[in-house]
Amino acid sequence: MKSVAIIGGGVAGLEAAAKLYKMGHAVTVIEKNDQLGGRLNQWHALFPTRKPSGPLLMQLKEQVCEGVNIVVNAHITGIEKNDDGFAIKISNNRLITANVLLLTTGFDIFEAERKEEYGYGIYENVITSVDLEQLFKSGNPILTAQGKTPERVGFIQCVGSRDEKVGNPHCSKVCCITAVKQAIEVREMLPSAEVFLYYMDLRMFGRHFEELYKEAQFKHRIQFIRARLSEAFENPDGTLQIRIEDTLLAKPLKMNLDLLVLMVGIQPQKKDGNLVDMLGLERDSDGFLKPEDQYTAPFKTGMRGLYCAGGITGPKTIEETLIEARAVAAEINGFLSRRKSFIGHEQFVMEL
Ligand SMILES: Cc1cc2nc3c(=O)[nH]c(=O)nc-3n(C[C@H](O)[C@H](O)[C@H](O)COP(=O)(O)OP(=O)(O)OC[C@H]3O[C@@H](n4cnc5c(N)ncnc54)[C@H](O)[C@@H]3O)c2cc1C
Ligand code: SF4
Repeated sequence: MKSVAIIGGGVAGLEAAAKLYKMGHAVTVIEKNDQLGGRLNQWHALFPTRKPSGPLLMQLKEQVCEGVNIVVNAHITGIEKNDDGFAIKISNNRLITANVLLLTTGFDIFEAERKEEYGYGIYENVITSVDLEQLFKSGNPILTAQGKTPERVGFIQCVGSRDEKVGNPHCSKVCCITAVKQAIEVREMLPSAEVFLYYMDLRMFGRHFEELYKEAQFKHRIQFIRARLSEAFENPDGTLQIRIEDTLLAKPLKMNLDLLVLMVGIQPQKKDGNLVDMLGLERDSDGFLKPEDQYTAPFKTGMRGLYCAGGITGPKTIEETLIEARAVAAEINGFLSRRKSFIGHEQFVMEL
């Protein structure tokens, strides 16, 4: 039996783990948090279907609960490459050894406080798309910080994406459709509210995204305004005034809102101790892990036996992530079937 260690127990890691286990390999998933599921834990309902995230999350977790070795709350302190594969040192002096290592550590979310001019962390009625998703999940009503039902809600696109100033020139890909979904959900919860969506471009690239966008426009009367936000200010009563430039009319505009939602983007993991740097791997021009070749080797990292999949190489939908996880599992299986050697599954190292 050959062994595979997977770092990151999100959508990509769990799906790849289940497939590799079914193919007959010893699989260990190493997750830094106390629970599996990654970002999916944070989302309430998914685009474009608007189905709740719960059943998918449960299915992904259930398919690894038998047979796959799961290590949570794991802090990786070092990774060594040897002739047989990899030795992964984690907290509490544990050592996981494996013939193949798969990285599925996903991405970070842009810290909205960095766009100070938009007022997140300063004005209470400025929230992010992640905060809104948490609110939907909680089942609580949508209220302003002053306890009122909002009558005018605005969504601002491309916060921390397509923005050279914050070092994120790339498009985060999923936030246009997330904004459309969330705008519909807000209108359903607040039928008398006006909902505005300020966009640079609307990127409805996926299957059935266009239909959801049309539904938002014609059924739910979301008002789409092509504009860039310059600044948000707080009025004395706690409502917000935003200053935007309408890029179709080429005119500056001021609008009052009760609640402003910032569509925060996806960015590469850059913080200390991230594995891309620990392993000395190459990053792309936008900072995501660079695969060996985008077309012919999208899951290879340039290091023999080290693979990658999911959000670690760039923004992806769950559908795309699942497809990558299945594909990388098949590729790893092919690689392992050509190898003869075997090393153990998990060992404990003695404290010195
Ligand atoms: C606001 C927002 C809403 C979204 N909504 C949708 C939607 O409705 N539909 C859709 O298709 N897609 C949606 N997406 C995209 C979706 O979240 C991604 O496709 C998916 O999360 C990618 O899965 P992943 O496994 O690659 O990464 P993640 O979900 O980020 O999982 C990575 C896992 O790795 C772990 N990890 C990270 N570093 C380490 C480490 N050093 N050691 C151990 N473990 C580590 C993390 O804790 C996490 O569990 C949304 C994205 C955003 C930003
Ligand atoms: S997906 Fe849309 S909101 Fe997100 S960065 Fe790209 S254009 Fe901007």
